[in-house]
Amino acid sequence: MTTTPLGAEIRRQIAAEGPMTVAQYMALCLNHPQFGYYLVRDPIGRAGDFITSPEISQMFGELVGLWTASVWQMIGAPARLRMIELGPGHGTLMRDALRAMKTVPGLKAALSVDLIEVSPVLRERQRAVLFGTGVAVEWHDTVASVPDGPAVVVANEFFDALPVHQAVHQADGWHERLVTLDADGDLAFATDTNVLAQTPPNAPLGAPSGAIFEWRDDAGARELGQRVMRSRGAALIVDYGHTSTAAGETLQAVRGHAFAGPLEAPGRTDLTAHVDFEAFGRSVEAAGAKAFGPVGQGTFLRRLGIHERAAVLRKGAMPHQIRDIDAAVLRLTEPGKRGMGDLFKVMAFGHPDLGSLPGFGD
Ligand code: SAH
Repeated sequence: MTTTPLGAEIRRQIAAEGPMTVAQYMALCLNHPQFGYYLVRDPIGRAGDFITSPEISQMFGELVGLWTASVWQMIGAPARLRMIELGPGHGTLMRDALRAMKTVPGLKAALSVDLIEVSPVLRERQRAVLFGTGVAVEWHDTVASVPDGPAVVVANEFFDALPVHQAVHQADGWHERLVTLDADGDLAFATDTNVLAQTPPNAPLGAPSGAIFEWRDDAGARELGQRVMRSRGAALIVDYGHTSTAAGETLQAVRGHAFAGPLEAPGRTDLTAHVDFEAFGRSVEAAGAKAFGPVGQGTFLRRLGIHERAAVLRKGAMPHQIRDIDAAVLRLTEPGKRGMGDLFKVMAFGHPDLGSLPGFGD
């Protein structure tokens, strides 16, 4: 087992206070103020651990920008619009979105940007990338401190990085899965002997013994639902995940573009788990919002016009650039293992009065 400073700290904490939940472990690994994965490194790109859609092609951010512009028009083109991004990474999506939105008359003058970012390293990077766009940008630790008012919220690969709980099914019900120490003092998974006092929300009945169920605290989703109800606006969530709530383990560890063990090298390994879009939809609808989707990323980008945008970019491009554009379209839209077209899904929600949101129409 690789020892990291955070691994040593987690072992000390378990030795002193007992086992912790998988959600507590994941939160420490990703967001520990000193050693957390997102706090100390830039994980995105070739030199990092993973690559994301906005980093694959400018078309992704541009289409999200045009989606935002459509929502702005649907809500009556208010004089002020906040574009809020959760977990903006390198700031690439926002840069490309802002460039596309400049073509919409009146929108740039109305726009300001709020970025929710935990990482000081990435905040600096976002500042550099968005400097010179002519749009005011503010940073926040959570969306709660963003003032109310007409807003469009966007998030790509944000919710998969929020901690998940895991439970294991046994004859008497669901038991929380824990991280503890084995006989050698190494980190190991264990199952709480007590049955969970409260069955996890919507956990399937009659799951086989040993089945794992994952769920997230839904406070963040409910808060976004309440925001789109209070303020005019809508939200767009893109992430990898499943359409309906079901048993199954999706907690995944990635280091240097390869799979790793989730208990290996805490703080140096990216940990994510699928977004349960059914649960997400339930949470925002509990606040009164209307949810659309999820649809596959491929379908969504096609409906927004990725092929038309690619055709424009191809004009006047060099042959190697044309190859890159075509490869990017495939990677972003192709279903199955080769592309991100159906594993990645898109959900949107807004005030029910808005009706159907762009990309989800019949
Ligand atoms: N959206 C970007 C980056 C995805 S990586 C892209 O598509 O390229 C996840 C992003 O969320 C990073 O910017 C990370 O620092 C941020 N993040 C992770 N957990 C967070 C939290 N709890 N609060 C705020 N930001 C967080």
